[in-house]
Amino acid sequence: MMRCREAIDVLADYLESTLTPEVLEQLELHLRDCAPCRAYLATYKRAAELAAKVNRVEMPPAMRQRLRDFLSGPGSGTSQ
Ligand SMILES: [Zn+2]
Repeated sequence: MMRCREAIDVLADYLESTLTPEVLEQLELHLRDCAPCRAYLATYKRAAELAAKVNRVEMPPAMRQRLRDFLSGPGSGTSQ
């Protein structure tokens, strides 16, 4: 029986459909019985889809710069 840790380890491969049939079966069995892992998978999947969408749409340079300023944290971007 697969454990949660193992299941989470292979989720990325699961989403890319690169799992072997044996592992895939184990994972699906585990997901059927394990609500926390199903919730984790749903979150993971949404994040992956979001990331794919963001990468596909080119971000305007101005927005990218603003985002970088924002991410660089308080104090480091604003003078005065
Ligand atoms: Zn689990």
